[in-house]
Amino acid sequence: MDRVTCIGAGQCVMHAPDVFDQDLDGVVVIRTAAAAGEVWEDVVEAAARCPVQAITLPGA
Ligand code: SF4
Repeated sequence: MDRVTCIGAGQCVMHAPDVFDQDLDGVVVIRTAAAAGEVWEDVVEAAARCPVQAITLPGA
């Protein structure tokens, strides 16, 4: 996850709220690094929806 690239669009929080949050400036922060099963699918969706590709998945 690239907090410098993040523009605070909030797509990741919308799609994976258990994993992503935004700080007071709107920049993405990680709530937990443990994502499995359905939550992982949400993370994959969140990464795909990020308009600036700020979320990089392991192995990608
Ligand atoms: S979707 Fe991308 S740009 Fe938007 S808050 Fe998340 S990381 Fe930042």
